[in-house]
Amino acid sequence: MATPAPASKLDPLVSLCKRRGFIFQSSEIYGGINGFWDYGPLGCELKSNIKQSWWKTMVRTREDIVGLDATIIMHPAIWKASGHLDTFSDPMSTCKHCKKLMRADQTWEMLADNEFGAAMTELHAAGAPELGRVTAWCKGRGKGIAPNLAAVRNPDGILAVMGASLAGATFRNFVSLLASDNLVTPVQPCPYCGGELTEPRPFNLMFKTIVGPVEDPANIAYLRPETAQAIFAQFQNVLATSRQSPPFGIAQMGKSFRNEVTPRNYTFRSREFEQMELEFFIRPDEAIELLCGRVTTLADMPDLTTPQDNWGWQVWHTYWVEQRLAWYRSVGLPAASLVPYWQQPAELAHYARACVDIQYAFPFGIQELEGIAARSDFDLTQHQKHSGKSMEVFDEPLKLAAAKLDETARTAFVERVVADWTARGKGADEARAFVAKLLDGRYIPHVIEPSAGVDRMALALLCNAYAEEQVTDDKGKTETRTVLRFSPLVAPIKIAVFPLIKNKPELYAKAREIFGQLQRRWACFWDESGAIGRRYRRMDEAGTPYCLTVDFQTLEDGTVTLRDRDTMQQERLTVPALKEKLDEILLG
Ligand code: ATP
Repeated sequence: MATPAPASKLDPLVSLCKRRGFIFQSSEIYGGINGFWDYGPLGCELKSNIKQSWWKTMVRTREDIVGLDATIIMHPAIWKASGHLDTFSDPMSTCKHCKKLMRADQTWEMLADNEFGAAMTELHAAGAPELGRVTAWCKGRGKGIAPNLAAVRNPDGILAVMGASLAGATFRNFVSLLASDNLVTPVQPCPYCGGELTEPRPFNLMFKTIVGPVEDPANIAYLRPETAQAIFAQFQNVLATSRQSPPFGIAQMGKSFRNEVTPRNYTFRSREFEQMELEFFIRPDEAIELLCGRVTTLADMPDLTTPQDNWGWQVWHTYWVEQRLAWYRSVGLPAASLVPYWQQPAELAHYARACVDIQYAFPFGIQELEGIAARSDFDLTQHQKHSGKSMEVFDEPLKLAAAKLDETARTAFVERVVADWTARGKGADEARAFVAKLLDGRYIPHVIEPSAGVDRMALALLCNAYAEEQVTDDKGKTETRTVLRFSPLVAPIKIAVFPLIKNKPELYAKAREIFGQLQRRWACFWDESGAIGRRYRRMDEAGTPYCLTVDFQTLEDGTVTLRDRDTMQQERLTVPALKEKLDEILLG
């Protein structure tokens, strides 16, 4: 069950994370368990700061979003209604030779990361691949790296026939032909050994468990693969108790579990992880039309800073993309490292109207941090169908607006909605039933869903913060400084307090007193051992933005030395001035 070696570009970071107590392999003393990670003393502070910042931005500082903390195991019917039981799967292939399982849609990506892939790239890049070179590799190094590749198992027979087709082949075709036993049909090779893969088959990613003492299929339940479904299932309870009405949101953070076929890239794809999800419920566009006369779309180039009553789903969706990008920037990811990807119509789920992935440029490639989907009324409608409980809201202003329409306007509105729905492939009867309810002030809300991962954000912040630089000390000695340049908002420790020396009781007591005061406000660290320079280096590696030294002058005038992690500059200031400075920076 050992975890495979992490991607090499991450090696220095992985080693720092272990050395400094950010991230450990789960169950390490028993050889580890693949796809599971533990967060050490600094890692859990980092994660907690990410979650606190998200909660503050999404819930505490808004009047239109409330929170939820639901259970991880829920009634299995939830997963039937949501579609997870039937369709939450990844394509999985098995290598016919080495028997390893892997995600069929990631084998090329995996190949790009390993020694076999590097060798193939080199052979292919040699121009029109020379038969002799390929044969030599297959008879030599290939035996160790890709023993089950067809061309390695039968170098003379295969390469003699394939020489012509290899020349000018694309990279994938080149490798696929070397993997082919029949020399004609390209075969997708196993990235571990070069062997032939089975046809992909769907593999459901939900972890199963049994509820109660009886191991009976009737007692099967699932660990949630996302936090979002509980929000839909509790929608009516929250609506009834929170005094909210659309547009409003319900936010939830917590653990999710996916039995990923191939967990990889360190913590990026784990089997247990945390999500931060918002379901933001909005009126259907037809309701906006009745209430405001017209729906504002992106073509109207609306100002996205303050939500307006007349916004349609499209504007709300873009608003949330902007809000979320702003949050990533606010906690320290540079704008240039964030890559929003607008999914193409063919990539969208059948119920989704739009979906944007916010991606980050990780050292192993540009990958998703968060998905922001406009999911129509799909989820609530599914739960209404499966539970038999109404998911409708009653919107009094809507009913009043509808009552003001005269007969002609009413008929025109109904016909327009029916025409619009049928043009989008929906039934006229369904459309008429929807309008009848709408005119009575009732509808199932639509939803915009920004769904982010805590662990991926922690990894992005670590990748972004990691730096090695050459510094020269007072004595002219040059050394490499490893530093994590976290934004102070997410840094695990905000300030470290050092007594200059520990064997001067008065000075020591003063430093403890200051430490105690600061600790009440922020995460602080006490370090009394070693030269000040060494203590600074330790804090640089932990990403601590400020170090404070209490020295002899402190006893005379109450000032301390504050050292800035990034500039390495020092300043003297009083403790009240320091508190004011940090308050300003850390309030965010
Ligand atoms: P991917 O395509 O990378 O598997 P996804 O599109 O399936 O991700 P969503 O279902 O949209 O992901 O989940 C929302 C967020 O939850 C993701 O953007 C990511 O941050 C996080 N997440 C999903 N799966 C994992 C995982 N296996 N490990 C860590 N984080 C995850």
